[in-house]
Amino acid sequence: KKRVYTFGNGKAEGKADMKNLLGGKGANLAEMNLIGVPVPPGFTITTEVCTEYNELGQEKVVELLKAEVEAAISNIEKLTDTKFGDSNNPLLVSVRSGARASMPGMMDTILNLGLNDDAVKGIAAKSGNEWFAWDSYRRFVQMYGDVVLGMKPESKEAIDPFELIMDEAKEAKGVELDTELTVDDLKELVVKFKKAVKDQTGRDFPTSAWEQLWGAVMAVFDSWTNPRANYYRRLNNIPDEWGTAVNVQSMVFGNMGNTSATGVAFTRDAATGEDVFNGEYLINAQGEDVVAGTRTPQEITLEGSRRWAKLQSVSEEDRKAKFPSLEETMPELYKELNVVQQKLEDHYKDMQDMEFTIQSGKLWILQTRNGKRTGAAMVKIAMDLLRDKKIDDKTALLRLEANKLDELLHPVFDSVAIRSANVLAKGLPASPGAATGQIVFFADEAAKFEQSILVRIETSPEDLEGMNIARGILTARGGMTSHAAVVARGMGKCCVSGAGALKIDYKARTLTIDGKVYEEGAWISLNGTSGEVYEGKVLTRKPDMSGDFGLIMDLSAKFTKMNVRTNADSPKDAQVARDFGAQGIGLCRTEHMFFEGARIKAMREMILASTTDGRKRALAKLLPYQREDFEGIFEAMAGYGVTVRLLDPPLHEFVPHQLATQKELAQEMGVSVDVVKAKVDSLEEFNPMLGHRGCRLGNTYPEITEMQARAIIEAALNLKAKGVDARPEIMVPLIGTLKEYKMQADIIRATAEKVFEERGDKIDYLVGTMIEIPRAALTADLIAAEADFFSFGTNDLTQMTFGYSRDDAGTFLPIYMDKGILKHDPFQVLDQEGVGQLVQMGTQKGRSVKPDLKVGICGEHGGEPSSVEFCHGVGMDYVSCSPYRVPIARLAAAQAAV
Ligand code: ADP
Ligand code: MG
Ligand code: MG
Repeated sequence: KKRVYTFGNGKAEGKADMKNLLGGKGANLAEMNLIGVPVPPGFTITTEVCTEYNELGQEKVVELLKAEVEAAISNIEKLTDTKFGDSNNPLLVSVRSGARASMPGMMDTILNLGLNDDAVKGIAAKSGNEWFAWDSYRRFVQMYGDVVLGMKPESKEAIDPFELIMDEAKEAKGVELDTELTVDDLKELVVKFKKAVKDQTGRDFPTSAWEQLWGAVMAVFDSWTNPRANYYRRLNNIPDEWGTAVNVQSMVFGNMGNTSATGVAFTRDAATGEDVFNGEYLINAQGEDVVAGTRTPQEITLEGSRRWAKLQSVSEEDRKAKFPSLEETMPELYKELNVVQQKLEDHYKDMQDMEFTIQSGKLWILQTRNGKRTGAAMVKIAMDLLRDKKIDDKTALLRLEANKLDELLHPVFDSVAIRSANVLAKGLPASPGAATGQIVFFADEAAKFEQSILVRIETSPEDLEGMNIARGILTARGGMTSHAAVVARGMGKCCVSGAGALKIDYKARTLTIDGKVYEEGAWISLNGTSGEVYEGKVLTRKPDMSGDFGLIMDLSAKFTKMNVRTNADSPKDAQVARDFGAQGIGLCRTEHMFFEGARIKAMREMILASTTDGRKRALAKLLPYQREDFEGIFEAMAGYGVTVRLLDPPLHEFVPHQLATQKELAQEMGVSVDVVKAKVDSLEEFNPMLGHRGCRLGNTYPEITEMQARAIIEAALNLKAKGVDARPEIMVPLIGTLKEYKMQADIIRATAEKVFEERGDKIDYLVGTMIEIPRAALTADLIAAEADFFSFGTNDLTQMTFGYSRDDAGTFLPIYMDKGILKHDPFQVLDQEGVGQLVQMGTQKGRSVKPDLKVGICGEHGGEPSSVEFCHGVGMDYVSCSPYRVPIARLAAAQAAV
């Protein structure tokens, strides 16, 4: 088995479509070599070896790899005319992780590997640049100490031991930047760093290049299972089994002085999707310096640089003097980079996110990948590429991540409110959107308030979880490619970064801006589109949905095989969904209608009545309300089917539980409070979700079904009289046996006939049932003989198939997911393996007796992309989901059909 793939000098053993084996980074490094982009030579150890490592351990894996790695190193030596482990002319390499799916900042990288006290002198002599040699060495000792020797502190609040030494050194010298330290300072740093290693680990820093290399390779494998990588995988549904590849690559140096630099660049704007080349760089810097936020990164293009200066209120003179663009400082290299970025985008036909380094006037590309982007940018870029005929319809559709459309559907600031908002500070528009919330200063306290804004000097990968919880993120430091900015854009979370006016005191938990102090809990608002920070709460409003968004919906309509309906209980929700393109209602719950105003009284009267007559009297009061509700909903969905579910929850939910309300009710009904109390108590159940609910209500109290059926049919007839096309579909919930259904269906049909006779008019209507109890799925063929349609109620079906109570599962589901017992919350993502079988079987059995049986789904899963895909596979006619998920479901349905 081949475990190592080499690349360099225009040749490569791998290529772009080998991501599974080589990881994204390795596959693209190989590909770039093949298309003539300058990439330092190196090799990739496959992801399979990571799995072998986890199974067999270090010793065995080194044995398996040794010969191939040695050959690959000697290949680099030949190409670079250096020698690994040599003192005079040493080969230095980076050791980089690289999974199939990109996990920015999640894994650890080691640069300048191969240095020791002798090699550093060789490098210094060869380059004629002692400062550079020692800067590289101190960086290497720190990275190796942190990552391989495990010296990076676990706790977020603890300071990295090397940072501490560094800060002390800078303070002692009275300088602010790393670049201001002298060669002697750097030499002293290395001594102190190595002492720290010895003190903390009890071992000397390894001097052998080979020992360093194997240690680093194993550390990359280990980093696959570190907590932040684990969390990131869970957040992004990346399987643990995939493993990471390891890339070993000859170093190029951006820290060789003023003709060297390092940076990151995007072929298009990752926030807006605009087709403008952009990015950031730093002169005389290495590796992560640009994203680390230790120095203010500079813009690559002149235009970008000017825009940045305006946002930061930096004068043109200052900008030119202190923060000039690459276009100005290295115009020739800028041109070269511009050519490469265009070449890469044309080749990959998607927006690229690149890392580059300039070593003494020579450009090298170190990474390219499809860039992370906001939902808005995702949409714009795909549609722009489609318009430019770079990709076709299907490719454009598949480029979109359905869940990300969500970001486009969320509020923006009200344009009037925003004009009068008090601007506290300005930062960079790192990730667009509007957020308003209460200040928290620590990521692990993000849940302290219902709506929180995480305010940090800068963020780090440890903060991921809190960033996900917070409504928005505000940082004092860092540029457009800082950790906070990149992660926020990936999450679609509003973020303003690098707001320099912020003074944050973590200890006192205060934020000070221009002398004014804001405590934890104070309200602020962020505008991720302009970079402005406002005082207090600022009103938000609905975004407008047109242009490219409409185009995507049209494209979806072209390919989809399923309809998308909505779950809605009110005309307003129905209208919202219809505007998003919903074609009908898949679930209209009727119980919510019983809670408002006078209705709840009549409802309680009905429940507490001790005779059928008493119940009928109360139901007669409810009838006009129900009819009115249905008229509104049918009208909002005119021309489309509306599935109305009969009363479903246990009656106990409707009765008063407080003595005062019980007394009131008793008085109104002219009975003693004890009678009311006794009735309330008698309705109490141990397992209400498995108790007297669903069709069990209608089968014990047929008059309820009668009333509801009458209200539905009368409403439809009233609308017909007004010329409105109402299409009711009456749905019986929670059946387990044919008889349970049949008895309800008979009542519904008989009632409808009666109403038709009374009115001397008719309408078409359907009667069907939910399949949400396993027994119903198992006997679906019997039920289908009597039903016009099935709707899979996957919430209850999941609950009953797993035997997890939806209301109590919160106590153990998170633990189950942590421990990997479950991959997803089955109430959010349909369990295709188990529950899915029942859905599939139910559909097949149903259609075996009634081939044109209409089948849909109405659980939460109807708006979740992977579940929608499953429903398509099962051959459903429609999925139904909450109004704001409709566009997502439409796109997911189309993607499934492409
Ligand atoms: P990540 O996946 O976190 O981006 P990378 O492996 O890309 O980690 O490396 C982190 C940084 O180190 C990047 O900025 C990259 O440009 C730099 N780097 C990696 N390898 C080299 C190399 N061979 N020469 C110079 N810089 C490198
Ligand atoms: Mg990288
Ligand atoms: Mg149900």
